[in-house]
Amino acid sequence: MRNILGKLAVQTVREGDGQMPMQFALCGGVQAQDLAELKQWYWSEELTDDPATAVFRIEVRSFVLQVDGLNVLVDSCCGNGKTRSVPWAHQLQTDWLQALGRTGLSPADIHLVLCTHLHADHVGWNTQLRDGRWVPTFPNARYVFSRKDHEFFSTQTHEAHNREAYIDSVLPVIESGQADIVESDHCVHREIEDGIWLQDAAGHSPGCVVVNAKRGGAQAMFMGDVLHHPMQVVRPDLPFFADEVPAEACATRQRLLAEAADKGAVMFPAHFPDAPGGRVLRAGRGFAYDFLQPGRGRGTT
Ligand SMILES: [Zn+2]
Repeated sequence: MRNILGKLAVQTVREGDGQMPMQFALCGGVQAQDLAELKQWYWSEELTDDPATAVFRIEVRSFVLQVDGLNVLVDSCCGNGKTRSVPWAHQLQTDWLQALGRTGLSPADIHLVLCTHLHADHVGWNTQLRDGRWVPTFPNARYVFSRKDHEFFSTQTHEAHNREAYIDSVLPVIESGQADIVESDHCVHREIEDGIWLQDAAGHSPGCVVVNAKRGGAQAMFMGDVLHHPMQVVRPDLPFFADEVPAEACATRQRLLAEAADKGAVMFPAHFPDAPGGRVLRAGRGFAYDFLQPGRGRGTT
């Protein structure tokens, strides 16, 4: 599915999905009232009215953004054949490259790879194995990494799978000379509010950024992992279990939801159910979400 926002065209490239208990994902904070609120605008078969049995399902995907003749890949999923200390990313063999092909693009067509952060499920297809070496998958692309995340993940050792991802999916790109390591407010194309620019979204990781794009229509906000699931629109104040600095991640989530609602921006969260794009509305105690795709919301699976 292609979303058109002025001169922007956005498509999704799906790699897979996963699930975990709702109360594990959101650190035991979800109440029955929250699920009832969610049910007003989104529901899916793995959800239940009881927080103890509700399941938090996520998808893993990239986005292709096309504007002004540029083909931009936002995030690059887990990748194939990577050795990981977590089963959900270990030695995957998915058809992600074929899914990219269904957008009409081959790896050589990609001009820019923008990683919202350097977690293992956002950098994997940055590289692929060729003749026993991890080499950049996109031979003609510049890859943009945030300086703060680069500094953090080049030295952190407490999460083995993210360390492994840095070594085989980030470092080879830097060594190839194709990486640009930038500040979290870097402007990538043209200018802020009329081009493509990054915005600080620290919390889930130190250098997390939102990728913003706007050209003659509504602003697109590629949210990365600021949000993983529609429940976080209802309860942005609850930490996600993998947030590096939980209080900062919650404040960032609330700030960016408010900004998107005020601007009428269209969000593209990395892990929402297909099709993920939608607008944020102020509702009840917090926010609701209006999926762009007709019928995507309540009652669909
Ligand atoms: Zn993620």
